[in-house]
Amino acid sequence: MQALIAELHAARAHTRRVADDLGGAREFGPRLPIVNPPRWELGHVGWFQEFWCLRRGGGGESILPNADALYNSATVAHDERWRLPLPSFPSTLEYRDEVLRRVIERVRAGGEPDLAYFARLATRHEDMHAEAFHYTRQTLGYPAPQLPAPGGFPGNRVSGDAELPGGRFELGARPGPQFAFDNEKWSHPVILAPFRMSRTAVTNAEYLGFVEAGGYRRREYWSDEGWAWKDRTEPLYWRGSTLRRFDRRVPIPPDEPIVHVSWYEAEAYCRFAGRRLPTEAEWEYAASFDPVSRMKRRYPWGDDAWTTALANLEGGALASVHGYPRGDSAFGLRQMIGNVWEWTASTFLPYPGFVRDPYQEYSEPWFGTHKVLRGGSFATPSRVVHAAFRNFYTPDRADIFAGFRTCAR
Ligand code: FE
Repeated sequence: MQALIAELHAARAHTRRVADDLGGAREFGPRLPIVNPPRWELGHVGWFQEFWCLRRGGGGESILPNADALYNSATVAHDERWRLPLPSFPSTLEYRDEVLRRVIERVRAGGEPDLAYFARLATRHEDMHAEAFHYTRQTLGYPAPQLPAPGGFPGNRVSGDAELPGGRFELGARPGPQFAFDNEKWSHPVILAPFRMSRTAVTNAEYLGFVEAGGYRRREYWSDEGWAWKDRTEPLYWRGSTLRRFDRRVPIPPDEPIVHVSWYEAEAYCRFAGRRLPTEAEWEYAASFDPVSRMKRRYPWGDDAWTTALANLEGGALASVHGYPRGDSAFGLRQMIGNVWEWTASTFLPYPGFVRDPYQEYSEPWFGTHKVLRGGSFATPSRVVHAAFRNFYTPDRADIFAGFRTCAR
């Protein structure tokens, strides 16, 4: 119970740091399909927690009259969110925090066996919105949130591919005490051929090679869909030798991972480099399999919970791809967790025997149209991500904190 309460508080503390300063001139922002108005999104975080933890999917009254009509993302169309009669910014934060107070009260009181599940669901939902606030700030050129810079865990320079023997692997989450989303359930055997995977994510220096080779103008690197999508000659936020990071322009850091690339750009880079994206099964195996014990780990480094020395998560900035050597996977792959999300070749699909969980809109509507990303970014709260966690976005999205790593053909 104490751990659950600590988790609820930690998620809220993180949200406050990334979003609670978005009031005033920033609380609505431009009406774009890839962002939400902060005033709405902060209320939605509170509403979701109330809906599942205090109302179990819509029963009973909300603390806030008419809350479902304002904040239910399944029914309130995206562009409506700028036009609703929302409470003021301060009242929105009050509502959100009153919900948390009541949830904690009920966790303390006990006697609701399913409350822990819904409380964990709500913290993860909040954590994902926290990352969305974070990339919204990048999208709109706002200052970076006040979060700790990466701790400085430099590593030896790593390069080249690791050899992975493959074989039988249990893909997906194993039943147990840990929270799992419906799309991770449950682990099931897959057979993998031997493959070679890059020890690091693709760096800015490597990606610059593609840009300088005219990669964005050469048709042969792009799929039909990617070519039709492409409206740029360099990555989003790049301009020559600089890139925009929140509200500043900085020289492109050569050893940081390429970030803010769409799946189409990852695909085109791979064609240029004579490489390919890993499948999500290859990715998860590479991140979690221990060839000595032949057991699967929860994280690349083992089953121990995350610490700041193991991976760049829930922080303020990207780090070099060579850092965090203590987080290496058993195969010697670096930063499978943290720093940047990694696009995989895989389309987001249900695992065999998929059954929807109560939050039905989480996974099922997106099967077949989204691509899977793995591993979390510097902006991902640590509670969310582990080796079997599946993130998913449409292949055109470059605004998220996504990069990729490659495999030999
Ligand atoms: Fe949501």
